[in-house]
Amino acid sequence: MPERAGLPAVHLLLAHPLAAEAIRRWGRSTVRDAARTVLAEARQQLAAGAPLPDVEALARQTVQRVRRLAAPAYPEVLNATGVLIHTNLGRAPYRAHPLPPYLALEYDLEAGERGERLAAVTTRLCRYFGCEAATVVTNNAAALVLLLATHAAGRRVVVSRGELIEIGGSFRLPEIMRAGGAELLEVGYTNRTHLRDYEAACEVGPAAILVVHRSNYRLSGFVTSPPLAEVVALGHRHGIPVWVDQGSGCHLDLSRYGLGREPTVRELVATGADAVLFSADKLLGAAQGGIIVGSEAAVRPLRRHPLRRALRPDKHALTVLAATLDAYLAERPEEVPLYRLLAVDPRALQRRARQLARRLRRGGLQAVPLPTRAVLGGGTTPEETIPSWGVALPGAERAAAALRHTVPPVIARREDDRLILDLRAVFPEQDRSLAAAVLAALAP
Ligand SMILES: *Cc1c(COP(=O)(O)O)cnc(C)c1O
Repeated sequence: MPERAGLPAVHLLLAHPLAAEAIRRWGRSTVRDAARTVLAEARQQLAAGAPLPDVEALARQTVQRVRRLAAPAYPEVLNATGVLIHTNLGRAPYRAHPLPPYLALEYDLEAGERGERLAAVTTRLCRYFGCEAATVVTNNAAALVLLLATHAAGRRVVVSRGELIEIGGSFRLPEIMRAGGAELLEVGYTNRTHLRDYEAACEVGPAAILVVHRSNYRLSGFVTSPPLAEVVALGHRHGIPVWVDQGSGCHLDLSRYGLGREPTVRELVATGADAVLFSADKLLGAAQGGIIVGSEAAVRPLRRHPLRRALRPDKHALTVLAATLDAYLAERPEEVPLYRLLAVDPRALQRRARQLARRLRRGGLQAVPLPTRAVLGGGTTPEETIPSWGVALPGAERAAAALRHTVPPVIARREDDRLILDLRAVFPEQDRSLAAAVLAALAP
């Protein structure tokens, strides 16, 4: 093949000093795969009439390719979006402390024998949420599947048509119901469901009534749904359990942070609901997890279902969850990073925004401090915003791309043609590194 004649064989390319150094650092197979791809591309370019590249150029391309392959898998970023629970940036912020190599995860130090893996978190959950029983699985979707599979397989579960939600594309309630082996029994209408609609459904002997929190949308206008306490009373009159897919894990009065008040998990439990489900990494501010709190009758049987083993949370998530609950039990929510961010006074944000703008202007950027509105995000309190401050930069498109490629990458928010660096989700100790990263990316 004449066009291939000029290109080196893979082993010759790998013998180049640049490639040899890359092999020492990243391993032979990674570099060899990259070299093969580079040669294949060069062959195509040759066939298209490009000049023959020299070995040096090919070795450089190989190293570049390996660098891209070996880039950090989940690099730290600065969240200047003003979205506190950002699904694409790992939901609730928390700092994971490295785990010791061994820990008493399911080992009873008193008895010197095997212990209960979840005991430490379930007792904390029961104390904090005022419930009889609790358990933890990998996420809220898993919690719902486990609940359905345990109590409702092959049976019907009543859901209002106004609550057939989709969250983030992959959580569709009807699909989750099928995955749990249950059949959906829809009642009411999109905007209105009455107690009598639930009552009529109770006649067919469903396994449960499921009430789903409208996490990521609001219905307004001509809207009716009965208070949860009435649904619970109705269900219990008919001997039918009532479950609540609460989702966000709202557990404190958010009005103290300038947000609207909504029922907390503890209040939902107090209505007598048999099970309340929510994520651990939304308003609870912990690592990924799905929590089920409620009655012994609802929660205890979950432990024996084979799926429970498949859905059990890892030791990292459990230790973060336990430490987070300890902060709430000690009435120190601001030790949890999410509430530390929420508690920052707008005047402090204003001071920091001015200082950031000054630093950026000194570096030659057109930076203007301005008041903004931040959001909780993660499908928790739709339509609600909290006061914040940020810095506006011109040329949104180009600036956003440059900021994503600096170290650490800065993820900002676009507003029309401006780029806003919102400080609500930036920790004060990150301010300097934010200024430095923005200057490195954009300074003229
Ligand atoms: C977020 C949410 C879920 C999904 O929770 P994951 O922990 O992501 O599985 C389910 N239901 C509601 C109401 C939610 O808000």
